[in-house]
This record gives sequence, structure tokens and C-alpha cells, in this order.
Amino acid sequence: MNLKHSMERWTVEDSADLYHIREWGAGYFSISDKGDVLVTPLREKKDVSVNLPEIISGIMARGYAMPMLLRFEDILDSQITQMHESFRSAIAKFDYKGEFKGVYPIKVNQQKQVIETITRIGKVYHHGLEAGSKAELIAALSFLEDKEACLVCNGYKDREFIDLGLYACKMGFKCFFVLEMPGELELILERSQALGIQPLLGVRFKLSTQAGGHWTESGGDRSIFGLTISQIIESIEKLKNANMLDCLQLLHYHLGSQIPNIRDIRSSIQEACRVYAGLVHEGAAMGYFDLGGGLAVDYDGSHTNYMNSRNYTLDEYCADVIEAIMEILIENDITHPTIITESGRATVAYYSVLLFNIFDTSSIDTDSVPKELPEETPDIILNMLEVLKSLNVRNLQECYNDALYYRDQIRQMFKIGDLSLRQRALGDKIFWNIIQAVSDNIKNLKFVPKDLTDIDIALCDTYYANFSVFQSLPDSWAIGHLFPVMPVHRLAEMPLRNAILADITCDCDGKIDRFIDKQGVRRALKLHTVKENEDYYLGAFLVGAYQETLGDLHNLLGDTNVVSIRVFEDGSYSFVREIEGDSVADVLSYVEYDPKNMTKRFRATAEQAIREKLITPQERREIMNMYEEGLRGYPYFEQ
Ligand SMILES: *Cc1c(COP(=O)(O)O)cnc(C)c1O
Repeated sequence: MNLKHSMERWTVEDSADLYHIREWGAGYFSISDKGDVLVTPLREKKDVSVNLPEIISGIMARGYAMPMLLRFEDILDSQITQMHESFRSAIAKFDYKGEFKGVYPIKVNQQKQVIETITRIGKVYHHGLEAGSKAELIAALSFLEDKEACLVCNGYKDREFIDLGLYACKMGFKCFFVLEMPGELELILERSQALGIQPLLGVRFKLSTQAGGHWTESGGDRSIFGLTISQIIESIEKLKNANMLDCLQLLHYHLGSQIPNIRDIRSSIQEACRVYAGLVHEGAAMGYFDLGGGLAVDYDGSHTNYMNSRNYTLDEYCADVIEAIMEILIENDITHPTIITESGRATVAYYSVLLFNIFDTSSIDTDSVPKELPEETPDIILNMLEVLKSLNVRNLQECYNDALYYRDQIRQMFKIGDLSLRQRALGDKIFWNIIQAVSDNIKNLKFVPKDLTDIDIALCDTYYANFSVFQSLPDSWAIGHLFPVMPVHRLAEMPLRNAILADITCDCDGKIDRFIDKQGVRRALKLHTVKENEDYYLGAFLVGAYQETLGDLHNLLGDTNVVSIRVFEDGSYSFVREIEGDSVADVLSYVEYDPKNMTKRFRATAEQAIREKLITPQERREIMNMYEEGLRGYPYFEQ
């Protein structure tokens, strides 16, 4: 291939195509003429962008190390605004008589900063919160000041939870208890009577509609949440008897997260609307229709119903929701309710970017085979060398099969002691030369045999990335979820290597070897050759939803450094919040070590070593300094 020629012609446009940044970037992420990733966080100001590599050097200059999580508060702002504006225009378009009020489900990213930002920005639109546990309700009450906003309580509720929620009602909050299981109503009625406070009630029902996607267990008859239709009717009876049917004002359901197909969303709305109409018919007050979360994020930019994508835009979602609700309610002549959605993922995914450096790489040894082989080279290796010599574009499949055969023979002979370490290494080298040659020749084939289509994957490099998948991208490990990953600089240069990423845990699952693609999944990521003396930075994008607190302490790699960025209209920016990541002492204390005590013990060990004349007292001082510095340090790979 004429490499020089194609390198000259490589442009940032080619990088944009390669990494699909235009498709998943949603207008927030793009590439500069120089080849850096730009972030454009303000919805109203499309010409205001900040440069990611510049931000990285600014943060490093201030003394923070990689990996780090960057949060763009303005993106959160833009996402909330966009959602409300979209619903507003759909409401106007269809002349819907009710309004839209979003709530943010705290579990999607519970960080105080997120809740603080959402409640502050959301005030204009009366954007509320959804709490799924006692702790989340307690958090919500301290940040939600807007009494027009809804506070939806899902999850199982004990007496403490219920009492707190009832008092919230008394204080003027629109605090709904959503019945998740039949027994809850009893306790709510009892506490309501005891405290003399009327509750606002909702009911969650089990949809029979089930959607495709990763996280759709919430729908369907087997869902663990919600009431069946007959349980709903029993609840109505109970409320009637207590003369409290006017407390029942909200219907809730949740189809699951990341619903890629708009048809599933529409069909769930139809089913839910029938239930809503039925509840009105039964005499419940109603007025709120809460369709839960599920609004998906197009992680791979393919705009399809593949599980990492979505086949609809936000505008289409809003229009479909309004239209589907109106269709059924008009038929039943029912007043248009206030629509609530509990979109979490779509609200916060875009706002965080995980940045990390590559600290080493390794590639398969395909250096050419030496001209002169040692005298005693066994036949099996010479045979394999013959395969390499005879390889041409017409016998690729045959050579490939032979290479596999000889490789297995060589491994077997090595195992029983018939080949030396060096002979085995020579055999491996010849084998990889054959694979490389097959891969090179395939490019000239019109028809590629099935066995050989993915052969270049076998040859790809390992790039060692300074982060922990378990801590920072848990869904990537746990359920194979795909996030867009790409270099944040050098994008005017053609990436010449195929690579997978290994993280810094020493777990063989600590890797990323599946990447986004327009169709399906890519098995390797195109990356640049890492230069000596120059850091190479990658970003994992759209990681704001669910990743931050699901992460774990595998290999005692703790929370990363976090920096929040606020961008001003003149294109300047400031670091508004800096959260130092966990130190080694922090992560150790999470698993019950006491750093002070550890130092004391190690000091005693060092003292013993002096007595045994293994080290000098001066060395003890240095060793202890090193040890204590290690405790204070960052658990990740430091340059
Ligand atoms: C998790 C959850 C959500 C959030 O769903 P997204 O797909 O992130 O929008 C909303 N409502 C309930 C009840 C949930 O459990």
C-alpha cells in the first residue's frame, strides 16, 4: 500500500468518519482543524468550544494526574433545556392541553454536584427528582426547593420513608408515593392517619409490553416491580373504603433503561394509557401520567434499534409520547394529564468524559525471520518456514491452515520437551509472519474466505491504558455495554495501529476489546503509534450515566480525580470544582486497613532489618519516606 500517499491525504474528516464522532457527539463533541477533540457545551452558542488536550495540560499543570473524569456542567444544562424545549414544541404542535414536568432519577448519577446542578438549572422548568430509596429521598429534600416540581418516590418504603415523605407533603412538596408492591398501601394509610397528613399517591403497574435492549427486565409480567391489574383494583377498593380515592393521582410505569426502539415506547404508552383511562373511570383523581425512564442515548451513533443506539431523535420521542397519549385519551374523553418522564441516562450521559493515558504498548512479534537459522533447527520449524516462503495471493487459506497445524505441533513438542525455549520463539515468530502476510494479501482479494475475515484482529496491539474498567466503566465489563472511545488529539494523523485496550488492573477481564461501529461491533480500535516522550491520551465519552457509583475497588483502584468545567460565552473556561481522587490510604481504609497502624508495623519491620544488618538507619529513613509517600499517593500508574 502506498502509505506515504494515504498519510498525506488523511484529514480530520477521515478521523471523524472513523470514530463516528459526528454521529454520537450530539453536537457536543467534534474535531478541530488541528486534530484535537473540541467540546461545545452551550446549546445557544454553537461557536463556543473548548479544546480537550488544552484542558488536559491545564489540569496536569495544576498537579492532577491521569486518569481523570471531566464534567461539563453546561452540557447538563443544555440537555435539560433541550428536553423541555422539545416537549414544549410537541405540546404546541399537537395542541396538548396538559404540561410536561421532568424528574431526574437520582440513582443514575447520585453525585451531589449533579443533583445540585439539576435542581438549580431545572427550576425554570420545574424539573423535579425521583427517589428510589430512603437515602435518595433525604438527598432530594435538601436540594429540591421548587415546590412546583414533582418529587416521585419509587422503591420500597418503610415507616421512616413514609413519615418523611408525608411531612414533605405537609411542607408543600409535590411528593408522590408510588405503590410498588401491594402491602405498601396499608402502611401508608396507617401513617397518614396517625400523622393526619393526606398523601399524594401513585401506582406503578406491571406492563405486559416488553422491549428489546440490555436493561428491559423492568417491563413484562415477570418484572419484580409494580402491581398487576388485579392488585391495582384491590388498592382502589382499599382507597374507596378509606374514602381516599382522590389521593390517587399518578400512574407510573418503567419499561427499562435504554430502549432503542421507538415502537416499544409507543406500544407501552398505549397499554399504560388504557390503565390510566381505567383508573379515571374508577373514580381516581389522577392528573399525572409518569412514563418512567428509557429515553435512550445513541452511544454508537448508528441511529438504529441496536441496543447501544436508538432509532429516534429527542424530538421524535416527545412527539410520539404526546401523540400516543392523545390518541387514547381523546377516544375516552379524558382530560390531558401532566406528563412526567424520569429520563436519567439521556440527561446525564453526555456530561462526563473519562480521560486516560496510554503508558505502554505491546505488539505481536512479526519482525522478519532471520536469514540464517541455527544448524539444529528441527524439521517442524523448517516446514513452517516453507509455508511462509510459498505464500501467495492464491493459496492464503491453505497457508493459513498449514500454519495453524504446525503451530499446534510446535506447542505440543514444546510441552513434552522436544523443543527448546529459543526454538519455540522462532516457531512463534514464523507463525506470526505468516498471519501478517495472509492479512496483507487479503486486501487484494475480491472474495475473502470466512476464516480469514477477522485475521487482522489476531494481529492487533495491546495498548495499556491507565484506568480501571471496573472502577470507571463498570457497564463495559459487566454487560458488554459500548461507549465511544477515541484519541483526543493527533486526529489529523492517520492512525496506523489496530489495538485493544488493557486496563491497569491485573484481571484478564480488565480490558476493552469491543468498540462501537455503524453496524454491530468492531473488535479493534484504530490508534496512533505512541511516540517516545509524548503522552498519548484517549477519552471514553458519554460516561455520565450509571458509571460513577456502580464502579468498584477492584485491585484497590479508587475514585479518579474529577474536575468540573464551566465554559463562558467568550470561550474561556474555569475549573469550578476539583475533587481529588482516592489516595492509596483512602482505598486501603475502605477495606478496613488503618494507614497509621500500617506505618507503625512497617516501621517495626524496618527496624528489625537494621538489627539484622540488612539496611542502615539512613536507608530506613528513605524507605519509610517512600512508604508514607506511597500511602498518600494516587493508586493509578504515575509517570
Ligand atoms: C432507573 C430508573 C429510571 C431511569 O431510567 P433511564 O433509562 O436512565 O432514563 C427511571 N425510573 C425508574 C423507576 C428507574 O428505576
